[in-house]
Amino acid sequence: MARITLDHIRHAYGPDPRSEKDYALREVDHEWNDGGAYALLGPSGCGKTTLLNIISGLLLPSHGRILFDGRDVTDLSTQARNIAQVFQFPVIYDTMTVYDNIAFPLRNRGVAEPEVDRRVREILEMIDLTGWAKRKAQRLTADQKQKISLGRGLVRNDVNAILFDEPLTVIDPHMKWVLRSQLKRLHKQFGFTMVYVTHDQTEALTFAEKVVVMYEGQIVQIGTPAELFERPSHTFVGYFIGSPGMNIMPAHIDGNSVRVGEETIMLDYAPRTSGAAKTELGIRPEFIRIGREGMPVSIARIEDIGRQKIVRARFEGQPIAIVIPEDSDIPAEPRVTFDPLAVGIYADSWRVGREG
Ligand code: ATP
Repeated sequence: MARITLDHIRHAYGPDPRSEKDYALREVDHEWNDGGAYALLGPSGCGKTTLLNIISGLLLPSHGRILFDGRDVTDLSTQARNIAQVFQFPVIYDTMTVYDNIAFPLRNRGVAEPEVDRRVREILEMIDLTGWAKRKAQRLTADQKQKISLGRGLVRNDVNAILFDEPLTVIDPHMKWVLRSQLKRLHKQFGFTMVYVTHDQTEALTFAEKVVVMYEGQIVQIGTPAELFERPSHTFVGYFIGSPGMNIMPAHIDGNSVRVGEETIMLDYAPRTSGAAKTELGIRPEFIRIGREGMPVSIARIEDIGRQKIVRARFEGQPIAIVIPEDSDIPAEPRVTFDPLAVGIYADSWRVGREG
């Protein structure tokens, strides 16, 4: 498996890109660890497939280089890069048996039959299809077929990375969970470098060690699920990760003080916002307390979501969401306090630290 370096990659589908808007992928400059499990997460059209296709060799980037373990592979084909791919829809041969489908990539490369047999049996065990080896693939369910696609990727021991493009789209919800857990276990056991594209945050957060959040052709944050939750680098990450997402409201910053409407919140640092056209305060619904102390809010409605409640309220003219335990009482004249350690300040949508 390989370390993947994305060296100043940019891509425009049109012939003559003039501005940032003409790029489907703006500057991407990152290094992904050997054996890492990465999920590319973002809304439709943000550039996930474009980036995946650049890694796999289906697409040549307009600018930049791609390296596997330090070796420039930008001009190499998918086959020459030794990439295994699992697509949305299973790519298998219906008329072949399960065994022959999995053996195919090895036989294709001229691997000796005893070695083919050893590897195929190992994979069948891994993906839990040993009992189905002699069946024709056409009789199988969608999730079993997708397991075969996965097995065909795993069977080669020369692959540099396994790329998954929304592989669970055709799988029913219960099996999704099973397959995802299985993938995670296989990754732990064998340490493949995996890149997994999805627009589903649950899928990304449960599968990956590192989630790569993309927005409008850029990577806006690479982090563990906890980092994305606790310290979103960009307001989009705050909004996209979490349910409900982060509350984001216009704020005026003056030294350590943050003013939202008529209310002021004091921080123990002065955020670095000079020169920003837009400054905002972000706080997750889980870090707002409701009680008799603090700043007044008016409550619009309360949604019961099991062990917790989501309170939809208005604070200084802004709609906000607050998550509280199911058994919490809400006073007749509710007030809120923001945990200052959980407040993030954003300048032109990017999180900023202290001044100086
Ligand atoms: P989805 O989740 O819908 O697949 P995505 O995040 O994978 O979306 P991409 O498919 O990479 O996004 O698309 C990024 C941008 O590039 C979009 O604006 C899309 O319209 C554009 N695009 C993608 N493929 C092409 C193409 N072959 N020619 C021109 N524009 C393209």
